[in-house]
Amino acid sequence: MPLTAFAREATIRVVVDGKPETLDVVFDDRNYGGRGQPYFLCGTCSRKVQHLYLRLRDERLACRRCAALTYASQCMLRRGLHRARDIRRKLGASEELLAPLPRQHMAAAKYDRLVGQLVAAEAVIAAQLHDMVMRVRRRLEHDRHRDRNSNRARTAR
Ligand SMILES: [Zn+2]
Repeated sequence: MPLTAFAREATIRVVVDGKPETLDVVFDDRNYGGRGQPYFLCGTCSRKVQHLYLRLRDERLACRRCAALTYASQCMLRRGLHRARDIRRKLGASEELLAPLPRQHMAAAKYDRLVGQLVAAEAVIAAQLHDMVMRVRRRLEHDRHRDRNSNRARTAR
């Protein structure tokens, strides 16, 4: 019996909160005999991980890094969105992000202060959204390089 096992792949179907998910599982060939250590493939970054976590944004399963990053950004973003919506309510404006503001119907000083706060809050939200997009893009780029290198190492072995 050969000592090196092949990395095998499997697909598992699970239901999370009523939503079906397909999880990819790979078996590491590092262990001799048996079927090797099973790993999940993170659906976001394709890393091999032993645990998956529920990501709040879309209630999908992801590795801790992907789930946590999103979770932190989500909290910040949610706080910013709440703040912008509160200010918009005070101004009597539509709660929709970046929607036009109504004519001034309060003391000028108060109006100016609220509009200033709103502009700042919405600028922060825009910057956060931009950061999130850039971070995901960088991660995808990074993983593409890493996968290419690890494939090369595997074939060289
Ligand atoms: Zn991940």
